[in-house]
Amino acid sequence: MSEIHDMGVIEIAEAVRSGKTTALEVLEALRARIQGHDRAFGAFLRLDDEALDQARALDAAVAAGRDPGPLAGVPIAIKDNIHVAEQLTTCGSRILEDFRAPFEATAIGRLRAAGAIFIGKTNLDEFAMGSSTENSAFGPTRNPWDDGRTPGGSSGGSAAAVAARFCPAALGSDTGGSIRQPASFCGVLGLKPTYGRVSRYGLVAFGSSLDQIGPFTRSAADAARITRIMAGADPLDSTAATVAVPDYEATIGEGLEGLRLGVAREFMDDRIDARVRQRIQESVDAFARAGAEIVEVDLPHTRYAIPTYYIVATSEASSNLARYDGVGYGHRNTEAKDILAMFMKSRMEGFGDEVKRRIILGTYCLSAGSYDAFYDKALRVRSLLRRDFEQAFERCDLVLGPTTPTPPFRLGEKVDDPIAMYLADILTASLNLAGLPGASIPAGFVEEDGRRLPVGLQVIANRFREDLIFRVANAHEHLHGFAKESPIS
Ligand code: GLN
Repeated sequence: MSEIHDMGVIEIAEAVRSGKTTALEVLEALRARIQGHDRAFGAFLRLDDEALDQARALDAAVAAGRDPGPLAGVPIAIKDNIHVAEQLTTCGSRILEDFRAPFEATAIGRLRAAGAIFIGKTNLDEFAMGSSTENSAFGPTRNPWDDGRTPGGSSGGSAAAVAARFCPAALGSDTGGSIRQPASFCGVLGLKPTYGRVSRYGLVAFGSSLDQIGPFTRSAADAARITRIMAGADPLDSTAATVAVPDYEATIGEGLEGLRLGVAREFMDDRIDARVRQRIQESVDAFARAGAEIVEVDLPHTRYAIPTYYIVATSEASSNLARYDGVGYGHRNTEAKDILAMFMKSRMEGFGDEVKRRIILGTYCLSAGSYDAFYDKALRVRSLLRRDFEQAFERCDLVLGPTTPTPPFRLGEKVDDPIAMYLADILTASLNLAGLPGASIPAGFVEEDGRRLPVGLQVIANRFREDLIFRVANAHEHLHGFAKESPIS
């Protein structure tokens, strides 16, 4: 058996089910690793001590001969904007510093029923707004490959935790790239499922028409198992689709023969770092040698993705964040003399700069004089972005390109330049606008200052075709094996 921290989801579940190890042994080894190393990275906001009881109960079930489930004893870290019952959900914000989840997210409940153990909550940009985890009210997370750089964001804590081998899997949320971009920066696999594939019940809303929960793992098969368990209809979320959930693990080994892979011309132009493009091209060439047919496709409206996203996402955020008023939810200022002053002071004190910027932008876009010029127009461009992909999928089964235009950038590099930060999502946000599934998978490294910095290959499928993403990701793993390397010993 390999070292516990090197073990993946399926490997741990099988070892616990067969009695080769116990859930408690796995959990204690990973907690010790986190306590020893995470001070340097800040991936976790807190560990959950209740996980120890959860692990003991699971071991008792195994000992009693009961089926402990397909995720038996698998420790999973959870982004701190997803509700684990009775645990804190801070969203990386002062305004929710003391907020305890009164109920559990559907995705969490399903993982729990399958035997997963919730090891702790991970750091994020405040309310998932950001691309570097520097917008967290509780301090930034650092990239395990280079602690002078960001792990990406907003799910930076989850991506860093899986990369540093603090846990075999983590959950994040992706509104414009927040799973895929940090997965790319940290050299792990991160999947944003189709909009509606996974229930959003218990995920704190940012942009309700864009948000999805998804997994981070170090292998395609591990992500397939977690996704299958989380996915499916939910009476508590009317946007969760009733489309049947396939057995992704059953088809994951089918290889590339007969698949048509489209390389998006707009994702490979000279605005993208040349070293990144070179890594992506190497993966595409390897796919061709392994039997896939490669075609070029066009996504002509790509350059409108960022402005469109920042109108839709901020508009929805301004409405979703209205509930943090110090009355229904959130920090309350106790010195204000009247209720209006109380609302204003509570929100002034509770929200950070980026969240305030988004609320102002979104409220402006929705205001009477601007609605047609901004919001309504953005919705029309959103249709064009969706049509780009529809046309591409007439010519291919999957679209490939880089996940991010650059390798991980330095901490502090973009904090004072919101537009530069927003452009980190130029290749990811259009999928959320179109509702499509996409994953970032590890595609090697570029060298800078004597450090190896991860590059991510983005694999995009048509709606509800996560099965094809897992197939390609699994094939890529066998062609490359990059996810086998660890940034820390
Ligand atoms: N970085 C993007 C933003 O700041 C995406 C965030 C996300 O997907 N949650 O909005």
